[in-house]
Amino acid sequence: MMELNMYINGEWVHARSGKTREVLNPATGEVIALAAEGDVEDARDAIQTARQAFDSGIWSELPAAERGRYLLAIADKLEQQSEEIVRLETLDNGKPLRESAFDVADAVACFRYYAGIVTKPDGQTYHVSDPMQTLVVREPVGVCGLIVPWNYPLLMAVWKIAPALAAGNTIVFKPSEVTPVTAQKLFAIIDEVGIPKGVANMVMGAGPTVGNEIAESHLVDKVSFTGGTVTGRSIMRAAAGNIKKISLELGGKSPNIVFADADFETAVDYALFGIFANQGEVCSAGSRLLLEDSIYDRFVARLVERTKKIRIGSGDDPATEMGPLVSQAHMEKVLRYIELGKEEGATLLCGGNRITENGLDKGYFVEPTIFTDVTPEMRIVQDEIFGPVLVIQRFSDEAEAIRMANDTPYGLAGGVFTQDGAKALRVIKKLRAGITWINCFNPTYNEAPWGGYKQSGIGRALGTYGYEEYTEVKQININLQVQPTGWFEE
Ligand code: NAD
Repeated sequence: MMELNMYINGEWVHARSGKTREVLNPATGEVIALAAEGDVEDARDAIQTARQAFDSGIWSELPAAERGRYLLAIADKLEQQSEEIVRLETLDNGKPLRESAFDVADAVACFRYYAGIVTKPDGQTYHVSDPMQTLVVREPVGVCGLIVPWNYPLLMAVWKIAPALAAGNTIVFKPSEVTPVTAQKLFAIIDEVGIPKGVANMVMGAGPTVGNEIAESHLVDKVSFTGGTVTGRSIMRAAAGNIKKISLELGGKSPNIVFADADFETAVDYALFGIFANQGEVCSAGSRLLLEDSIYDRFVARLVERTKKIRIGSGDDPATEMGPLVSQAHMEKVLRYIELGKEEGATLLCGGNRITENGLDKGYFVEPTIFTDVTPEMRIVQDEIFGPVLVIQRFSDEAEAIRMANDTPYGLAGGVFTQDGAKALRVIKKLRAGITWINCFNPTYNEAPWGGYKQSGIGRALGTYGYEEYTEVKQININLQVQPTGWFEE
């Protein structure tokens, strides 16, 4: 049994209360770890530490290249330990090994990307009016609170920690209470590479206590949150007290639009990948499939045929293509949505049940599920289910596809499949979403900004945009002829 502790001021500590929380393997329901269950007081310890570390300049005043070297060292160690971290991510989250392997490789690349960014040209200069020269420089925001969900436990952590540290901030990081295992490994590496004490801190515990304290504390300058839209709203309110800077990466109900002239098998393949990769627990999942009338029947038939072949099992079986949902509570939420879909009058085309055969009865397995005959106002069409549940909508022309695609409160992602390049770009330009794909769905790159329009969030992760989110911008006006203005007479 693993024992997971918090990392504050360079020390591994128990919760002040001594409380722990059981962490379960979602494939079996077995307890795999006991995690320190922090509370408000523990969060305050970590925040205070990060504040002192920031104000001391111990990190922000290091040459950028030196901070970059720390990030490169973290990347190297993550890579060296990747086999074990992959295994632990699957054990904790349930996702198939091949997905954990992808996440860990991407986390390594993310640290390397930001290690590079930090030494690249930055800032601006303006020759304003004689004798003045204006410089624009970027500085760290200060203490950053970083709060992440359970669907990509390590990767979501790294998307925040790498740019925040690169830019010279100090951090208080909180993993999801459901999946704290790989964050422990990451902080053990942060410790090993010798990042100065107090710069990087990790607290664990529940959102409404530990998470809320991070969002509320006046000692925290910025909060960067990834999670559900309802929580995002609460974080925004909590952050208002000291006008914290906020970045929010929230939910989605993203449309995947397939026109009749699309490459048929490619579109089917990505429709599957869009919704059933990572058990559908993907913020950018293509959870609404929009099909053009003339290919509707053929496409749906082929999709159902392929869906029924998806191999479901424990994530640690290399043959598994789809693992369990992350927790019993989440599985129950997804199953409730499936019941709701039936009550709303949608047609359940395939799936819809918990899987209990072949030794899967102790885990949280749900069949890949597809609904048709849906109407735009149904909850299963509007709400993020965050599981392997696809709704299929039908359209007859480009204008209708665009209208349907934009018809939810979310605006995270969207995709278009067509062999007509002009049509693809016309449609994409009308999508009110921050992440879009043409003839593919779901790939993400460290170089490109990630984030949503509408209620899918504020700000962007990754790329130079993601780096800028962890900086403040300062103008420095320099007088090159030092003499009085004479504005007021002597
Ligand atoms: P969640 O909002 O319940 O929790 C996310 C994190 O916030 C957890 O660490 C949790 O402890 C914490 N939290 C909960 N209540 C809090 C509060 N009141 N104050 C401060 N912190 C609080 O989300 P989840 O169920 O863990 O994850 C699923 C959600 O995450 C989905 O909606 C998904 O779309 C979203 N997500 C978005 C992205 C993105 O990039 N846009 C990526 C991954 C997941």
